[in-house]
This record gives sequence, structure tokens and C-alpha cells, in this order.
Amino acid sequence: MLFNLLVMPWIAQRNIQEVDYGTFMTMTVNKQIDQVQVQDNQIVFTDKENEQIYKTGIMDDPGLVERLHSSGAKFTSEIVQQMSPFFSFLLSWLLPIIILVGIGQSMQKKLMNKAGGGGDSMMFGMGKSNAKIYVNSSEGIKFSDVAGQDEAKENLAEIVDYLHDPSIYKEIGASMPKGVLLVGPPGTGKTMLAKAVAGEARVPFFSISGSEFVEMFVGMGASKVRDLFKQAKEKAPCIVFIDEIDAIGKKRDGNFGGNDEREQTLNQLLSEMDGFEGNNGVIILAATNRPESLDPALTRPGRFDRRVPVELPDLTGREEILKVHAKKIKVAHDIDFNKIARMASGASGAELANIVNEAALRAVRDNRSFATQADLEESIEVVVAGYQKKNAILSDKEKAIVAYHEIGHALVAAKQTHSAPVQKITIIPRTSGALGYTMQVDEGNRYLMSKEEMENRIATYTGGRAAEEVSLGSITTGASNDIEQATKLARAMITRYGMSKDFDMVAMETVNNQYLGGDTSLACSHETQAEIDRQVVELVKKQHEKAKQILTENKQKLDELAKYLYEKETITGDEFMSILNK
Ligand code: ADP
Ligand code: ZN
Repeated sequence: MLFNLLVMPWIAQRNIQEVDYGTFMTMTVNKQIDQVQVQDNQIVFTDKENEQIYKTGIMDDPGLVERLHSSGAKFTSEIVQQMSPFFSFLLSWLLPIIILVGIGQSMQKKLMNKAGGGGDSMMFGMGKSNAKIYVNSSEGIKFSDVAGQDEAKENLAEIVDYLHDPSIYKEIGASMPKGVLLVGPPGTGKTMLAKAVAGEARVPFFSISGSEFVEMFVGMGASKVRDLFKQAKEKAPCIVFIDEIDAIGKKRDGNFGGNDEREQTLNQLLSEMDGFEGNNGVIILAATNRPESLDPALTRPGRFDRRVPVELPDLTGREEILKVHAKKIKVAHDIDFNKIARMASGASGAELANIVNEAALRAVRDNRSFATQADLEESIEVVVAGYQKKNAILSDKEKAIVAYHEIGHALVAAKQTHSAPVQKITIIPRTSGALGYTMQVDEGNRYLMSKEEMENRIATYTGGRAAEEVSLGSITTGASNDIEQATKLARAMITRYGMSKDFDMVAMETVNNQYLGGDTSLACSHETQAEIDRQVVELVKKQHEKAKQILTENKQKLDELAKYLYEKETITGDEFMSILNK
């Protein structure tokens, strides 16, 4: 339509020949003019013989109309060029179709190039899956490369065993699960585990990310799934690994305007999984960190019926992961991995790998040939709090405030018997925006926390602000993060852990996605909400008062320690304790 609207008039225009007024007058006299149209700024006319269209400018010519009339010209309101019907059909219909087909072809080529499809099936290459194939996975990752995660490895060892020798399983009539779902927070080694299964079993490994299935065009994802399974069945026994399966496996809901493409892809995946028999040697591993958002159809028996949790590593797990990664770099002989692991509490495998790498980078920066304990400790701080801001200069007054603030945290923590001892206190600003921080170290694994411990932790959070109040009599914005943390903890105690006096064991809040930030949603009446808010304030207030009391009782130590920190800028836990116990 656009073509006919814009291009056709243009083509018609092009055929008009411009002549001078004299020629026009001569043609009038010679009675050569067939049709004529006098417009505002030009005269358009045709001649009798070859039907050519001419145009010429307007002149002040009063007798023109008379002369034209007597020459036998026909006055018309519009002159259209008579094209041959065949030619105009060609132009207005065939040409646009040819252009469209051309565009289509080139797009298809582009898509196929992207899909990396070979030249074998050019015509039907659309939507070929771009699963990467690691055929020779025997030289790939092994279980020994994945540290910690012993339960997950045990769980997956059975699958390796099956892929090695399915006959034992077939004999007894047992069938392997078709799909295994690896769930856990990001960076805990899910992808590594899947690769390790293929590596141990020495089978091909197909890997594709869930988001790669979701294409612009409806139906492309589904055809990718079909293609992936076709390839996999040819290569069986093998592992198919789908990363971030939540990208396609989200719960289908009845909402208007749902994602058609995603649902079609999911349906195709479901029917492919049902389609192959249990024992054909294709095992699908999938990873997600949002298991609660998966469609129930995906997790029902016969599909992804086995779920392997891949949690954040515990203390021994962290130590092992550090050791595995430290093997890849040159390190000093006397490294205390246990201490590093304790300092990096809550870190994931990926973060630990990053910490080791940062240490190696630091060693290079300092022109050393190996990384030391200090490198590792500093790189934990880099990963946790960012780089030291070398040129951020605090004014003396600010520096004193930060010193009091940090000593406040540490002193409150140390004076409460249940709090973990302090590892290090520093008032060197970091790129994350922290002006200083107190690093606490857990002595061992903690799986449970008592109500008192949680209260003490809140008191420790408030300790920074309390120190400002007790010693300087004014308060600053430096406590904003502490306030957030204290509130979060207090809220959780009341709404989720049943630690308030009058809600008993009723859940007021539910966690939405435990592996990603763990945001919560309230499930209670307005009155209860108001009551929760009141109790949170009361709880934090009480601990704040307690912190203030502790600091007032130890005002002398507070001053002494803050002065020491102000001068030294960084002090260790041991220095802190020796001054405290002097
Ligand atoms: P996920 O798939 O769970 O997000 P990955 O398997 O991609 O995490 O892990 C990312 C990186 O983190 C790995 O390449 C590896 O270097 C490191 N890593 C994570 N977990 C472990 C572990 N348990 N042992 C050793 N390295 C690990
Ligand atoms: Zn603080």
C-alpha cells in the first residue's frame, strides 16, 4: 500500500517532460494538443500522437483559453498517464511482493547465521537451537573441581552411575528421573555441577540458557526445543543442561495478554519430556534460583521430579572452595584458609573464586610472585566493601565521629557475651560508600539463632549511633545502613520467627524468593500491621537503650579505643581486646 501511495505517483511524475512556453504555443497553433489542464503555477498537457505528458510554466496570456478551445484541446481536471495495464500491474503488485520476499530472505539468513546452523538444512534452518555441544567432555570439569556441595554431588553420582551403565537399572526395571532441578542462590556452582556430571560420565553435554528460547517470534522457541531434543536423542546418552529455566518455566497464568511465545515453548518442553521413554539415556538438568515461580506442570513426577538443593557453602565448604581455587594461583605456604573462610561468611562459591583472583591481582600489583594471607584478607574487604578510597579525605571531625561510631559497634558486640568477637575495625573509606566498618567473625557454623542472640545483634547495629550520642551528643547520617539492618531483623523476629509476645506462632509475612534477596510480603489485617510496626519500634528502641547503657558504663574505654582507632585507622581484633581488657 505504501508503495502504491508513494512510489507510483513519483514514477508517474517522472514521465512528464518539461517544455518552454514557446513550444506550448506552437503546439497549440498546430492543433497537436489533446488534453490540457491549467493549474495555479503550471500547465500540464498531452499531445495527440504519442500521448506524452508535458508541462510548462504559466505566462500572462489572456487569449490562451480561446486559442486552446479553437485548437480543439480538451480541458480536463486531471491528466493521468496511460500506462499499459500490464506494466502498471507489474509495478503496483509484483514489485512490492518481490521486495518483501527479498527482505524475508535476508532476515532468514541473518537468523540462521545467529543460530550457527550448518549448511545442511538451509531451507528449514529457522530456529535451530544454538545449544553448545561439548562432545569431548572427558577433559572437562570433574566432581573434584566442585568443592563443598557434598549432598548435591552424592545425589548426582547416581546419575553418573546410570549413564555409565544403564543395564543394571534396566534389569531391575528402575527408570532414572528424566529431569533434575538444581536450585540455589546464584554462584553456588549449579552450572559447574551439571558440567561435572557430564565430565564424570564422559557423555556429551548440551547447554542452553532458558532465555535463549524466548525469541521475538511466536513458535521459534518451540522449534528450538524440538531441535535440541532431536540432537540430544541422536547423541544419547548425554546431558542436556538448561540454565535459568525459570525464563521459560514460569507459572502460566490466565492473565489477559500472557506471553504466548513463552507458553508455547514451555508446552513444547513438557511434551518433549513426556515423549521420550525413561531409559533412553537423555538426562535433563536444569538450574534455577527461583524454584517457587516454576510451573507445577514442570515439577510433577515424570518431568523434573528430582530437586537437588545447591545451597551457599558452610564453613568447611568455603574452606574447600578457597583451596580449590587457590591451587590455580601461586600462594604462600602458610595460608590459614580456615580464617579466610570464617571472614567470608555468607559468600557464595563464585564470590570466593573472585576473592582468590583479587588476591592474585593484588600480588601482581605489588610486584610479588605469590599471594599472601594479607592479600586474601584485603581482597575479602574489596569484595565485601569495595576498594580503599585512597584520595577521600575525611575532615578531622568526621574521622573522629566515624571512629566513635565503629568502636560503638565493636564495644557493644564485645560486651554482650553472645556476640561474635571483632576481627578488624577500620575507618578507611571504601568505594562502596562505607566510611568505616567493623568486621565480625563467626567462630563456626551457625544454623540456629536464639532470641537473645538476635536481640544482641540488633543492639550491636544500634551501637554505632549510640556511641555518637553518648560521646558527642549529636547524631549523624552515618547510621542509615545500621538502621535498615536492625529494622529488617526486628521485623523478621516478629513476623516470621514467632518471637513477639502476642502473635505466638502465626506467620505475618511470607518470603517470596528465598534465593534472591528474600523480599517478603505481608499477609495480615491493617490493625495487625499497625501493631507489628509498633512492636518493631519497641523492640529496636529497647536494644538501642541497652546499647547506650553499655556504652555509658564503659565511657572511658570508648574514648580510649576511639582515640586509638582515630590514630591508627585500622586495628585488629586482638589490639581491640587487649585495650578493652587492660
Ligand atoms: P551458578 O550456576 O550456580 O550461578 P556457577 O556454576 O556458574 O554458578 O559458578 C560460577 C563460578 O563460581 C564457577 O565458575 C566457579 O569458579 C565458582 N564456584 C561456584 N561454586 C563453586 C564450588 N562449589 N566449588 C568451586 N568453585 C565454585
Ligand atoms: Zn554503623
